[in-house]
Amino acid sequence: MNIIATHVNYYMVCKRKLWLFSNGINMEHTSDIVAEGKLVHETSYTQRAERYTELTIDGSVIDFYDARNKIIHEVKKSDKMEKAHEWQVKYYIWLLKNNEVEGVKGILEYPKLRQTTKVELTDEDVACLEKMVVEIKHIVDDETCPQRIDAKICKNCSYYEFCYVDE
Ligand code: SF4
Repeated sequence: MNIIATHVNYYMVCKRKLWLFSNGINMEHTSDIVAEGKLVHETSYTQRAERYTELTIDGSVIDFYDARNKIIHEVKKSDKMEKAHEWQVKYYIWLLKNNEVEGVKGILEYPKLRQTTKVELTDEDVACLEKMVVEIKHIVDDETCPQRIDAKICKNCSYYEFCYVDE
């Protein structure tokens, strides 16, 4: 199985979300929140596509890569899941490193909040990612879907209806 950055993001957010996504259950097309996020992405920096490259690496898609300065720009709607966003970008940096592109850094951008966060990959992060990839494969290959997490973030999740349909 090819692990992509979305797996890493979902692993940080919710193991059930990771399992559902990886087992072909996709609700993103029905989610207004996801649609809003995409809109922020598409309208916040309209001139970006001319300056930066879209890069596909080992199945993961980096929307805005500044090849000259070796910077990944990742645009997000809100910083509520910042840890997940950070690890997503660290994973991109790791993929590039594994493909002989060294010295890459990342910037998380929250245009609605007028806020940015720098992201770097340390040796400790690489060790964490190596473990994470093993755990992701284990979760995804399990025949049983993990229990729902009953957390605040569920209300903003595209799987909310799916997980709480019996309530
Ligand atoms: S609604 Fe909650 S439990 Fe269900 S996938 Fe989303 S975050 Fe996980």
